[in-house]
Amino acid sequence: METVEVRWSPRARRWRLEVPWGQAPRLTVPQGTSRAGVERLLAEKRPWIEDQRARQVPRLRLDPAAVSESQARSTARQLVSTVASEEAARIGVEYRRIRIGGQRTLWGSCSSRGTLSFNWRLVLAPSEVLDYVVVHELCHLRVPNHSRHFWALVERHRPHWRRQRDWLRDHGPELLAFRPRA
Ligand SMILES: [Zn+2]
Repeated sequence: METVEVRWSPRARRWRLEVPWGQAPRLTVPQGTSRAGVERLLAEKRPWIEDQRARQVPRLRLDPAAVSESQARSTARQLVSTVASEEAARIGVEYRRIRIGGQRTLWGSCSSRGTLSFNWRLVLAPSEVLDYVVVHELCHLRVPNHSRHFWALVERHRPHWRRQRDWLRDHGPELLAFRPRA
């Protein structure tokens, strides 16, 4: 049985349990929770933790020894910049700069000031997925939320966007957890 990291948080209103890829399960509970309460919760949630873990089968064949993060970052910058500069004009938006980051939870984001940020791990995904994430963020420069209007815009520019979204749903957690060895 895996050891669960327990955190008592003054800010937590209720408990939260996460089973991140490649890391110990984490339980966050409100400050006043008793140890007995935590034990009860863990006993009850143990099957769920095991079930989550059982689904985390590596399928991407990523080799931590074969990837250099700095190389991957510079390739990511090139690929993202190419897509962004071509697509921005088609979508009718302008961005100010592109940032390549190592976010653990996020593929891309866009600030109201026009900075687009992307996760360097996108270079390890199929190229259509990287393409979709860039187009998605560019569309946010026109529609900053996920309303129907936004998805209609995405669909106009990438009619098959659902396939890429599904790929991210299926493989995203594994890819986000990936760390090169060096
Ligand atoms: Zn979005």
